[in-house]
Amino acid sequence: MGGNNGLTRHEYALALLRSCYGYDSFRGSQWDIINHTLDGGDSIVLMPTGGGKSLCYQIPGLMSEEGFAVVISPLLALMNDQIDALQQNGVPALALNSEKSESENRQTMDLLMQGKVKLLYISPEKLLSEIGRWSTSITQRISLFAVDEAHCISQWGHDFRPEYTQLGTLKQHFPQIPVMALTATADRITRDDIAKQLNIPEARLFISSFDRPNISLNVVTGSSGRQKLRQIVQFINLHQGESGIIYCLRRKDTENMAVNLSRLGISAKAFHAGMSVRDKQQVQRSFINEDVKVVCATVAFGMGIDKSNVRYVIHSNMPRNIESYYQEIGRAGRDGLPAEALMFYNYGDVVTLQQFAQQSGQVQVNMDKLRSMQQFAESGVCRRRILLSYFNERFDHDCHNCDVCDNPPERFDGTTFAQMALSAIKRTDEQIGMYAVTDILRGMRKGEIIDKGYDRLKTFGVGHDLSNYEWNAYLLQMLQLGLFDVAYDDNKHLKITEYGNEVLFGRQQIELNRVQRRKFTAKKEPATPTIVTQETAPAKRLDRELFEKLRDVRKAIAQASKIAPYMVFSDKTLTAMATEKPTTQAEFGILYGVGDVKCQKYWRTFTAAIRSHLGL
Ligand code: ADP
Ligand code: ZN
Repeated sequence: MGGNNGLTRHEYALALLRSCYGYDSFRGSQWDIINHTLDGGDSIVLMPTGGGKSLCYQIPGLMSEEGFAVVISPLLALMNDQIDALQQNGVPALALNSEKSESENRQTMDLLMQGKVKLLYISPEKLLSEIGRWSTSITQRISLFAVDEAHCISQWGHDFRPEYTQLGTLKQHFPQIPVMALTATADRITRDDIAKQLNIPEARLFISSFDRPNISLNVVTGSSGRQKLRQIVQFINLHQGESGIIYCLRRKDTENMAVNLSRLGISAKAFHAGMSVRDKQQVQRSFINEDVKVVCATVAFGMGIDKSNVRYVIHSNMPRNIESYYQEIGRAGRDGLPAEALMFYNYGDVVTLQQFAQQSGQVQVNMDKLRSMQQFAESGVCRRRILLSYFNERFDHDCHNCDVCDNPPERFDGTTFAQMALSAIKRTDEQIGMYAVTDILRGMRKGEIIDKGYDRLKTFGVGHDLSNYEWNAYLLQMLQLGLFDVAYDDNKHLKITEYGNEVLFGRQQIELNRVQRRKFTAKKEPATPTIVTQETAPAKRLDRELFEKLRDVRKAIAQASKIAPYMVFSDKTLTAMATEKPTTQAEFGILYGVGDVKCQKYWRTFTAAIRSHLGL
């Protein structure tokens, strides 16, 4: 390993980075990790989704002259995706798995023997059943075991896979081969478990920041039903032509959402665990190929997908905990370009999620996690600060890329509002739920209200100058402040607490965050900002019209060669193209994300489109 044509190790690695991937420098701790591996060290690599984990083992694989790296990966779909992408860049990577035929697998083994494969992707069960049969001439060539999604080894994790637990035997049988465990799950228990189970107690720990600064964090409180749908449509319309995911709580909701959006002319499909394998694959394919722009999904979606240009993730309901939320929004903006996370949060979600938690095996844990999620949603503190502190990462400034930073909440004395609400609850003998309180306060003459005679209460209509939206949002804050509880065993009626009584009788005061309706105006040019590829170059402007044309070119190439558009080039590379407007092969070849193989393959097509756009 190491020297090549008189280059230092670092120079050689950089040369590979440029020629295979079209990147100019390593990110964060990538080089340290690679260097440590080349020295033979074990490592545990914690990086958020999109942080750039794959290069950490791919480069050492490429650098080993006659050897290859073994990459252990749990998901076939992900494996195939990675290999397709690598082959696009001319990197010799292959997979051994049960989906391949005997003869394909034999051919792979031959290529390994000849030193023609640099990266071997394999599932844990396949590796463990095969490696005992490999000749020493093959095992001697293994330069690294990379264990991707390493948290799967831990029963504490959220994704435990029993087949991972046997991987500890690798270190026993091959103590001299470095092991690299990679995961985006950061908690200490999982991390310690990985070191223990893989038998790598001396492994060096590489922890990257879990911040994803390009994802803007936004929460909309209080919307439900048609209003929520309208807001979602407005939002999607600001992201025309871009890919996004909408997470819903239930299967039925994903279907309804997809139908509603389709009726409004938005290209959307549902995805959930109840669908057939074939239907699911088809939705994934069309999303990746950009025939479908929006996927309305339960949490099942996104696991095996490596699409780098998802521009937004919408949670149409609050997720059950911060871990899931962070993992799901992490599927946006992996290419580093601006992306948006938009979460809808209302009282109904809390009720539903509390029921889920009550029915789960670990009630207390799940209720606590839910409460943290709710506090995040309701907080008047910078959202990124909350998230990163939740993951025990120090982040001591406001991010200026979340809705709280954009609109710091205005606090006011909410005691009068609270007294109105509490008095309405009291006068019904605590026999109403949240939405009925709003109806009474707003003086709505609805069937149920009239039937029960609530229109004759003293509090009927006292809050008519606030909207439905505002009352729902304030009631939620009051619930959070502990003025009343929800009785799940009594039709979810509201019960006033001791603290609530003190407020009602004027012995305590409370403050509320002023509720503002979120307006969906374009904050910035949606996605794809000006990008300058050379540090010294004067800032050039992105030509959006050209960008759209290049997007079409990319789509046509992808269709013709039956690969996903982002595997031809990422959005970031298209942005660079539409900014730099290269017209020669040389100019094209230095763009971000253009390696040697892709330059050869594509420079003519893209520069022709650019020339014609420029009228040359
Ligand atoms: P992860 O596996 O950690 O989720 P990936 O390895 O898929 O992340 O990397 C995320 C994106 O960042 C990919 O598009 C990848 O090509 C890109 N990337 C990784 N390292 C670099 C780098 N040093 N320079 C530029 N882009 C990079
Ligand atoms: Zn912020």
